[in-house]
Amino acid sequence: METYDVVVIGGGPAGITLAKMLGHVKKVAVIRPEDHSMIYCAMPYAIEGLLDGEKTLKRDELVTDAGADLLRKTAVDIDFEQKIVSFSDTSQIGYSKLVIATGATPFILPVPGSDLSGVTGFKTEEDFHRINGLLGAGLGRAVVIGAGAIGIELALALKARGTDVDLVDMADSILSNLLDQDMSEPLGEELARAGIRLHLRTKATELHGRTAVEQVSLDNGQVIRFDSHDDCTQSRADTGHGLVVFATGMKPAVSLVVDGNMKVGRDGICVNDKMETSIPDVYAVGDCVEFKSGITGEVVPGKLATNAVPMAKVLGWNLLGQARTYPGFFNGAATKIGNTFVGGTGLSEAAARKNGLDAICGHSEVTTQFPIMPEAKKMRTKLIVDPDSRKLIGAQIVSGEPVTDRLDLLTFAIQQGVTVDDLTQLSYSAQPYQSFYPAANGVVLAAEDVIAKLST
Ligand SMILES: Cc1cc2nc3c(=O)[nH]c(=O)nc-3n(C[C@H](O)[C@H](O)[C@H](O)COP(=O)(O)OP(=O)(O)OC[C@H]3O[C@@H](n4cnc5c(N)ncnc54)[C@H](O)[C@@H]3O)c2cc1C
Repeated sequence: METYDVVVIGGGPAGITLAKMLGHVKKVAVIRPEDHSMIYCAMPYAIEGLLDGEKTLKRDELVTDAGADLLRKTAVDIDFEQKIVSFSDTSQIGYSKLVIATGATPFILPVPGSDLSGVTGFKTEEDFHRINGLLGAGLGRAVVIGAGAIGIELALALKARGTDVDLVDMADSILSNLLDQDMSEPLGEELARAGIRLHLRTKATELHGRTAVEQVSLDNGQVIRFDSHDDCTQSRADTGHGLVVFATGMKPAVSLVVDGNMKVGRDGICVNDKMETSIPDVYAVGDCVEFKSGITGEVVPGKLATNAVPMAKVLGWNLLGQARTYPGFFNGAATKIGNTFVGGTGLSEAAARKNGLDAICGHSEVTTQFPIMPEAKKMRTKLIVDPDSRKLIGAQIVSGEPVTDRLDLLTFAIQQGVTVDDLTQLSYSAQPYQSFYPAANGVVLAAEDVIAKLST
């Protein structure tokens, strides 16, 4: 039996990061069953046809050129005492250190009919081909359940391919985990302009069909039917043309470890800030992990590649002998709806209130270039501040131009415990093509708005 210094179960961004950091200095194996690791974030754009699907497939050389072995296998058992991983093909390998990086799988709501054909999650290469195959066969109508970033990106992609799309969410507004309602409201109009039918404040209760999905019942009494044919003997669903996609979040892939003695919480494997699990020499990183908010210290979901990679880096450094710790999830995330770029970081106002914080919020509206410039677009910023400590705890931006750089600056401010008073002194740059006038900066204006409210 071959034995490795480090065995990583999982070939997603977390596993690849570890291979790159450790592959040349330790004997490393990365395990994953699928043919290709994927750039999941780009999948909606490949569905839309903006990118060739091939472009979303990562090359195996990302792992092998780093000096690690890539084993295309499914791990089915771990003997933590003997330090042995067993695979579905009955082979085994030994390890000195084991990393669980098994990711997360789409959460399919357990409603009646969710096992019908034409019902899917949206993550794997198979999901991609299933959806693309239906589109190629003339998919007439699709229902996407979940109006978070993935659901919206997919809904827009399906619409761009000529499909009628219904987007369903039980929340009062779209992107409810990213933006407060005051920031997201105009985006619903953008979706409507794109021709997407939005059903808010309602849940899918049942999917109906003989073998394939034919209709979706919502708890507001509405029924969405895929069969728009005159021919009542053969529905679109019968011909395989109905599609329901659950974009209702991710659940950690922990089945490999739940029967052992490893401590596992609701959101994944429990780890400390060095990514150590409750079992010696076993670590976990990425979407399969449950971790805490860097702001509140409470357990929060953080199923993002931008959390998986930094967690893997912290672990990589520790395995290389450097003591580093993971500071927690701040959950900066962004998406694009039509021509509008949006992002949120830290706590939303709603989440802050749920956490018992009486948040004070400030807003600003400026343009992305000098307003006199022909390409200037609107940019709205919202800052969320804890009134007791005066620290920034969240931020949201909705803009006609990309927001991630600005958002990351605000995430760093949250990470560093910057106060709203500090933000009013932000030293900024200005140039006609790249900012509002030197007279004002969106972040500073929003900070001044918070201070005005704090002093009343
Ligand atoms: C459509 C979509 C869009 C997204 N967009 C963004 C975005 O814009 N920004 C962002 O930050 N994040 C985004 N994400 C989330 C991001 O993709 C995940 O957070 C990230 O992939 C997590 O990385 P990971 O390495 O922890 O797990 P994963 O990427 O899920 O990889 C897990 C790996 O473990 C393997 N595995 C599981 N069980 C076993 C087993 N028993 N044996 C062997 N191997 C196993 C899997 O096969 C897989 O290779 C998106 C996700 C999706 C689906």
